[in-house]
Amino acid sequence: MADFYNICLDIGGTKVLGAIFDKNDKIIYRLKKKTKEGGDNSDSVEKVIISVVEEMINESGINKKDVRAIGVGAPGVVDSGKGVVLFSPNLPWRNYDIKTPIEKKFGVPFMIGNDVNVGVLGEYKYGAARGFKNVVGFFVGTGMGGGLILNGKLFTGNEFKAAEYGHMILDPEGPLCNCGQRGCLEAFSSKKGMSAYILQQASRGRETMLAENIENGVFKSKALKKALAANDEVTVEAVDRACHYLAVATGNMINTISPDVVIYGGGVIEAVGDIFLKKILKEVDKYCMPSIRPTVKLKTAELGDDSVIYGALSMIK
Ligand SMILES: [Zn+2]
Repeated sequence: MADFYNICLDIGGTKVLGAIFDKNDKIIYRLKKKTKEGGDNSDSVEKVIISVVEEMINESGINKKDVRAIGVGAPGVVDSGKGVVLFSPNLPWRNYDIKTPIEKKFGVPFMIGNDVNVGVLGEYKYGAARGFKNVVGFFVGTGMGGGLILNGKLFTGNEFKAAEYGHMILDPEGPLCNCGQRGCLEAFSSKKGMSAYILQQASRGRETMLAENIENGVFKSKALKKALAANDEVTVEAVDRACHYLAVATGNMINTISPDVVIYGGGVIEAVGDIFLKKILKEVDKYCMPSIRPTVKLKTAELGDDSVIYGALSMIK
């Protein structure tokens, strides 16, 4: 069989991760690139994708005609069938057909899906959820993403809007969430939620080393790891609170879906997943039905930062 390559991208609000896979699904080239924040229009985002793919082809030295397909995970509501991004919270895309111009440019099939859905798909095909049929994924990052695999298939719901259980309301009188509601899981357990708690405590005069690391309302996962290792009191409180609400949300999802496995992924889990999983496991039994709990496994993601690019690969294979 002649050599061929698949190119996969994970497009975030501030960075793009790229990988070239060979015909044996081995990564032969990687690229990580910062994208400009804000002010971009759809056209320039499309230019970013094109320039990143071109750079990857040139730098890796592969032959352009050996590229078989391009797959992308991106934030927002994505019609993966049509390749149209219907809405993206952090990128300036509205009803944006990205498939047509990219396929025209490179002459190969192009697929795009919601990044968390694609990430859960990656864990399902290549990572921690391999061999299971019903998978609930929580992706803990700047926000709180969800991805659901039911009976071996990604469940996207009506108009690709399913699995927003990051906005499951756990306390209607709780802190304000980005979505306009109060007390969503995201408002407690995401980087934004934990950062808000830390800033609130700092404003009360409490010492915490993480407060000074919060930029634009979020800390970096590495700074969280450092503060936890230093046993920073306010940080430990924020994490305990985050894990408490994750345990409650996990219990709700276990009772609703009866999954084989619950996977925790995303930047926070990549950095301090062992600590999170331990704390969640300590509490989760309180919040699920005893008849359902024994058949569910709780695991951290295995592919780390690569789950979206592996998911993108499984989309185009
Ligand atoms: Zn919300």
